[in-house]
Amino acid sequence: MSSNTNSAASAGKIAAITPQGLYNKCMALAGNLWWAWHPEVIGIFRSLDPIRWRQLGHNPIALLHEFTPERLEIRAAELVLYTRIDQAYRRMTEYMNTKTAWAGRNVGVLGSQPVAYFSLEFGIHESVPIYSGGLGVLSGDHIKSASGLGVPLVAVGLFYNQGYFKQHLDIDGWQQEEYLDTAVQFLPLEHALNPKGEKVTVSIETRGKTIYAKVRQINVGRVRLLLLDTDLEENDPADRTLTSRLYGGDNRTRIRQEIVSGIGGIRALKALGITPGVYHLNEGHNAFAPLEAVRQRMVEDGAKFQDAAADIAQKTVFTTHTPVPAGHDRFDSVLIEEHLGPIRDQLGIDHNHLMSFGRVDPSNHSEPFCMTILGLKMSRYANAVASLHGVVSRRMWHCLWPNLPEEKVPIGHITNGVHVPSWMAWQINTLFERHLPPSWSEESYDPKEWEAIQNIDPGELWETHNALKNLLVAFVRRRVSRQCRRRGEADEVIDHARTILDPQILTIGFGRRFATYKRATLVLNEIDRMARICNDSNRPVQFIFAGKAHPADKPGKEFIQTIAELRKDPRFQNRFVFIEDYDINVCRHMVQGVDVWLNNPRRPLEASGTSGMKAVLNGALNLSILDGWWAEAYDGSNGFAIGKGTSHVDDAITDQRDAASLFDVIEHEVVPLFYDTDEHGLPVKWIKRMMNSISTLAWRFSAHRMVADYTTEAYLPAAGGTSCKVER
Ligand SMILES: *Cc1c(COP(=O)(O)O)cnc(C)c1O
Repeated sequence: MSSNTNSAASAGKIAAITPQGLYNKCMALAGNLWWAWHPEVIGIFRSLDPIRWRQLGHNPIALLHEFTPERLEIRAAELVLYTRIDQAYRRMTEYMNTKTAWAGRNVGVLGSQPVAYFSLEFGIHESVPIYSGGLGVLSGDHIKSASGLGVPLVAVGLFYNQGYFKQHLDIDGWQQEEYLDTAVQFLPLEHALNPKGEKVTVSIETRGKTIYAKVRQINVGRVRLLLLDTDLEENDPADRTLTSRLYGGDNRTRIRQEIVSGIGGIRALKALGITPGVYHLNEGHNAFAPLEAVRQRMVEDGAKFQDAAADIAQKTVFTTHTPVPAGHDRFDSVLIEEHLGPIRDQLGIDHNHLMSFGRVDPSNHSEPFCMTILGLKMSRYANAVASLHGVVSRRMWHCLWPNLPEEKVPIGHITNGVHVPSWMAWQINTLFERHLPPSWSEESYDPKEWEAIQNIDPGELWETHNALKNLLVAFVRRRVSRQCRRRGEADEVIDHARTILDPQILTIGFGRRFATYKRATLVLNEIDRMARICNDSNRPVQFIFAGKAHPADKPGKEFIQTIAELRKDPRFQNRFVFIEDYDINVCRHMVQGVDVWLNNPRRPLEASGTSGMKAVLNGALNLSILDGWWAEAYDGSNGFAIGKGTSHVDDAITDQRDAASLFDVIEHEVVPLFYDTDEHGLPVKWIKRMMNSISTLAWRFSAHRMVADYTTEAYLPAAGGTSCKVER
């Protein structure tokens, strides 16, 4: 992340630069989301005006708009920022123009035929609100690592001018949802231009009106992210807002969004002169894309449907991200005919033939059309996102390959990972810079790069962790007092919020969607016992919770209410806090500051989970059910396991057993280890476990490792290259 390459060329040699020139450099930095994983650039923006930086949601374009070039120059002179701005700008330019060694060795046939990576959400930074949760952040991390490794990739999604809802709780702890218009003028959005330099618009015919979409673009390092947006005058008023909200609206809105992203996405690539070598579909949401690719192939080559379909399927990679049934879109036959009818005519197939691509049983005419099945049938490589999720997915979709034994169902797995520079606190990063090899960040997929973690002075690691924990506590106090003010609470409640939590005591974090299978309230299963654990006079424990429930998920909202209302219970007043509006910013603060990251889903419903991987990078220890990624990550000494990796057919019994295990592990393992300190006050065994966690897990669950695996195991074979494993 940090680099010393510019030191020689720095002070004194910078050509005189006008205020406008300086301003333009800052805008250029803000215009590519490369800055979002470079702490030194974030530091420049923040130092221009730390308070406004926070108030503007860490949006550098909005911040720069508050400056004239002249005022910016004065501020930069005051803070001696010239050299830093210049270096950052040069580093970015260099980054944009260099080919990486990894790509030189490994991307071979992809060359001029990039991977087209489709996802309905992208979580790149909190200031670009076009994501809701796990899938979005994963997609964001994927494209950042593709950029870092130099994998040729173009990402395709939708532009939502209201994004996902903002959450706040009312006085009774009940979730309220609010959709706000994004200040689009402050996003690093460009028009995507075709080779002639013209703006691109695509259209998608339905049996009724044609839908039009403009194609916008955000640059994420070396990766172009194309975003389709239906807010165009040519559209019906109803279709102008089609892409306003992520996961908003009914099934009809959903299928219309999906033809825009899938079919429109392929048309956008074509209009931009991009010929993908591989199509990577994430979730069924985008599975209409191959149909349009087939249609184009038929038009261009005069190929027959069967041949074109086989050819496109060979180039298509499909990733399923959840075993939860509600995560798989299903559309009825009427919706399919209305929206796919025109393309079906051109494909030259009849309605039942088209429907058969979304059905388990093609002859069952009452079966709805399932997008995941379409994805599986239209791809020659399919994968789940963790080893256990692979097992679950093969069982789930065995119905599509009834003649194969379950373990031969052609769905493999590539375990998720997180983008290290985006999630690791700069304080930790600085510490690692001093101890790890210079190449550790660029080659974060390599276990050897992380071995020297064990040489770090335990006291130094502990001190760094505690500094971050203090920052988290300060963040929580700020947020909670703001929440109280907004709810119109009494002054003493607001005052109390300013002193909430204690940075000295064991702090457990839980930040995730409040889907009921994630069982946020499991820690309250034995509430008196929890009160004793929290308030132990020598070894107390506190919890920080955050997360949104889907607007239609009443039980999920009840879970939030249960947690939030603990603030009225004297036993938990200072021991349980709920931070509203979980997003990338809240997540970052939490995973960087807690001691323990809690994850207790009902096994095996957590496909992978990625927040625990973010916690690893910062030295937090995972305390988790052996589900998702943790089932393959836990080795007995790099965190804590809840339960034994089993579940009962009766959910109530499973919950009961898991809760009992959770309480036992907290009481008998986590608490004693944390408070077992040496004569210097250092919990040496705990710190040892932190080091084990980082050195065994950080590389394995890095997005660089993930993207390297996708490249060698999926992209290259799909593009017609070798299918053997090549060097990382
Ligand atoms: C990382 C992240 C997630 C996904 O984490 P899980 O472990 O899958 O729950 C969800 N939301 C946000 C904002 C994140 O940053």
